[in-house]
Amino acid sequence: MRSVVVMHLARLGSLNALEQTRSRRYWQRWLGHPLPSADTLGRVCAPVLPSDVRDLHGHVYSRLKRNKALEPPAHGLMAAAIDGHEFHATYRRCCPDCLKRTIHTAGGDRTQYYHRYVALQLIGRDFRVLLDAEPQRRGEDEVAAALRLLARVLEMYPRAFDVVLADALYADPRMFNYLLERGKDIIAVLKDDRRDLMRDAESLFEQAPPVQSRDARVSRESWDIEGFTSWPQVSQPVRVVRSIERQSIRRQLNKEIETVTSSWTWVTTLPKTRGVTQTVIALGRSRWDIENQGFNEMANRWHADHVYKHDPTAMLVFVLLAMICLTVFVSFYTRNLKPEARRNASMLHISRLILADLYQTTRAGPPRAPM
Ligand SMILES: [Zn+2]
Repeated sequence: MRSVVVMHLARLGSLNALEQTRSRRYWQRWLGHPLPSADTLGRVCAPVLPSDVRDLHGHVYSRLKRNKALEPPAHGLMAAAIDGHEFHATYRRCCPDCLKRTIHTAGGDRTQYYHRYVALQLIGRDFRVLLDAEPQRRGEDEVAAALRLLARVLEMYPRAFDVVLADALYADPRMFNYLLERGKDIIAVLKDDRRDLMRDAESLFEQAPPVQSRDARVSRESWDIEGFTSWPQVSQPVRVVRSIERQSIRRQLNKEIETVTSSWTWVTTLPKTRGVTQTVIALGRSRWDIENQGFNEMANRWHADHVYKHDPTAMLVFVLLAMICLTVFVSFYTRNLKPEARRNASMLHISRLILADLYQTTRAGPPRAPM
């Protein structure tokens, strides 16, 4: 496992690339024995239990909590963003857990295989942690996988968050009722597919003057009404918040100033007594973090969607390990390094230093059989 951690931290991206560093003394020093082959590394991850890796997440979480790294933002609410992410789409290989879909191509319909995980990221004041992930199974939708994920996270971390943040797909009575029964709130994007609720909210917003607010570059109009009963599948009335933002930006190309308008509507169980309008808007906007600083960071910079071995358990273990590596790395970078050290070294630079250390150590002679 320690060699896989180094592979993630150095952002090597494949077990074969890792294997090419096998003859370096680094491995003898770090592991106490030579690096196993790529095949062996792929093979040993399949029998590793995801629950063991999740226990490691629990250990890292406790340390972060003890060190006050996971304090809530000024509004006092800890959020857990959940979202689905697709890993690895292929026409060629499939395993018993692959999800399937038909793709219409010029050469006829083809079956594509892929894996999708729903992940949960805690969003604190100045630190985010990807805490757990759950694969979507065949024959179920993303919300079903999310409910399984939430059940486990609530058991392992009952007080880790107050409110779940999610996109429009999760504006689903199963999610809302599940969280309400467990004393948690949810803020989800509201779209037209919840027609009755949207229509009711729009007609009330038309009659009510918006609250105007403004900060340095953004002017905002917001509406916030609670007590909607036009979504009867949810066990209690819901609240709808809309924000229309106008921001002036200078275009790089012609230097002209342009006003960009964006409009967001959220449906939430959070009562006004626990979160004012600006809190709901701030939380709703921070949902983007799971995309921008969670999965995309893992996929683009940490090669987390690379399939190291096409085996459902090994893939989940690699994803969970990549999440821990990202947390530990970002925690080291933001909390251990002094600000002046951070000014001179990006996170990518630190990864390259780890990689350079791998390559620069002298050769250790022919590798022995892996242990
Ligand atoms: Zn598969």
